Amino acid sequence: MYDLVVIGSGPGGYIAAVRAGQLGMKVACIEKYSTYGGTCLNVGCIPSKALLESSEKFEEAHHALEQHGVKVSDIQLDLSAMLERKNQIVGQLTGGIGYLFKKYKVDGIQGFGSITGKNQVTVKKDDGTEEVLETKKILIATGSKPSSIPGVTIDKDRVVDSTGALKFEEVPKHLIVIGAGVIGLELGSVWRRLGAKVTVLEYMPKILGNSDAEVAKEAKKIFGKQGVEFLLDVKVTGTKVDGETVTVTYEEKGESKSIQGDRVLVSVGRRPYTDGLGLSNIGLETDKRGTIHVDKNFETSVKGVYAIGDVIPGPMLAHKAEEEGVVCVERMNGIGAHINYDAIPDVVYTEPEIASVGKTEEALKEAGIAYKKGKFPFMANGRAKALASTQGFVKILADEKTDRLLGAQIIGPRAGDLIAELAVAMEFGASSEDIGRSSHAHPTLAEVIKEAALSVTGSPLNM
Ligand code: FAD
Repeated sequence: MYDLVVIGSGPGGYIAAVRAGQLGMKVACIEKYSTYGGTCLNVGCIPSKALLESSEKFEEAHHALEQHGVKVSDIQLDLSAMLERKNQIVGQLTGGIGYLFKKYKVDGIQGFGSITGKNQVTVKKDDGTEEVLETKKILIATGSKPSSIPGVTIDKDRVVDSTGALKFEEVPKHLIVIGAGVIGLELGSVWRRLGAKVTVLEYMPKILGNSDAEVAKEAKKIFGKQGVEFLLDVKVTGTKVDGETVTVTYEEKGESKSIQGDRVLVSVGRRPYTDGLGLSNIGLETDKRGTIHVDKNFETSVKGVYAIGDVIPGPMLAHKAEEEGVVCVERMNGIGAHINYDAIPDVVYTEPEIASVGKTEEALKEAGIAYKKGKFPFMANGRAKALASTQGFVKILADEKTDRLLGAQIIGPRAGDLIAELAVAMEFGASSEDIGRSSHAHPTLAEVIKEAALSVTGSPLNM
C-alpha cells in the first residue's frame, strides 16, 4: 500500500513525489511517456529556452557583435546541430529526474494511470500488462494539452502546435503564428531570428493577453522593429493546406481576408488534460474547460484525491505547479505551508525579456486600489549600455498610503532573472522604499530596479 500515488511527472508531479519521498512517504509517480518531466522539460520550458538562446546567438553574430568591435563573417546556420543541442539538454534534465527518484525512494512507473477507485490506480503499460496500485492518497498532476480553434486542424506538419514548432527540420519561409501570447511570441522569435518571415494574428487588440498595457505596447513596438508583423483584433476562421502552402482565413472588422505561409503555429492557449483518467469512477467532476477544482489543501471534492499544476485553476506555469506540489504534500504531512499567488513571477523569454509579478496597473485600477508608480529606463544604466541592450524599463507599483509593493513589470535585458528580487520583496511585504534603500551592486542591471523604486517617490538618482 502506497501513502501517495502521483499521476504525471511534470514539474508539479515529480517535485511533489520528490518532496513526499523526502518526508518519508511511500510514493509512486506514474508517467505515460517514456521520459519524465512532463510538458515543461520535454516539449515546453526547456527546449524552447534552448532554441531561444541558440537563435539569439545566431542573430547576435549577424547584427549585434560588430558594435562590440567583433567582426564575424561567413555565418552559417546548422539547424540540425541546434536541434540536437536542444535534445541533449532535454535528455540530461529528464534523465536527472530518474536519479532524483532513486535518491528519494520514489517508485517511477512508466504507463498510463487511471483512477479505478478512491484508493486505487491502475497502470496500463506499453507491453499491454496492467499493474494495480493500492494507495492512501492520489495526486492528479496530469497537466495540460494545446488547444485549437474551430476551423483549424493541427496536422503536425504544415499546421503545428508548440511541440511541432520546436522541431521544424528547416526554417519556414513564412511562419504564421495564431495567438500573440507567450508561446507564440517566444517560438515566433526563434524562427524569425533564424530567417523566417513571421506574421502573428491575434484576436485581442493587444499582444500578451492580460499583461500590463504599457509593457505590451513597448513589446509590440520592439518586436515590430525586429521584423515581426502583427495583425491584431482579427478572428482566425480557418486553415487550408495545399501542398507546401497554408492559407489562413480571418475576419478583420467584419471583412473576410486571408494570408498565406508555408507553416502555421497554433498557439491559442492550453487546456487541462484529464482524458482517460477515470475521474467518473470516483465521481470527480471537472468544469466546462476540464479544470479540476480544489480547496486550500489542493484536495478535490473527493476526500484523499488531490490535484495541482496546469490541471487546476491559475496561471499555467512550471514554477506555480512546483510550489503547489510542495505545499500540497507538506500539508498532507501537517506542515503549515502556503503559496502567495500574488508573488508568482511570469516571464516571456523574448529579446528583450518581459517579466512581471503581482498586480498590473490595469488590475489595480479595476480593483479601485490607489497606487504610486515609479519607472526607470535601461537606457540610463551603465551595464545595459556595456551590454548594448538598453531597450525597455522597470516599473514598480506601490500602495499609495503604505508604500507596500503591489506589483512590478520589467521589459529589458535579463528581465526574467531580475524579477526574482521583486518576487522576494513582495513575499516579504517590502515597501518601495525598502528596495530603493537596499544597496545594489554597480554596475548591474538590477540598479534599474533600485532607480525605479526611488522613482516611486520621485527621486531617482541617475535621471
Ligand atoms: P505537465 O508538465 O503537463 O505534466 C503532466 C504529465 O502528466 C505529462 O508528462 C503527461 O504525459 C502525464 N500524464 C497525463 N495524464 C497521464 C496519465 N493518465 N497517466 C500517466 N501520465 C499522465 N512554464 C514556465 O513556467 N516557464 C516557461 O518558460 C514555460 N515555457 C513553456 C513553453 C512551451 C512551448 C509550453 C508548451 C509550455 C511552457 N510552460 C512554461 C508551461 C509549463 O510547461 C507548464 O505550466 C508545466 O509543465 C505544468 O506542469 P504540470 O506538472 O502541471 O503538467
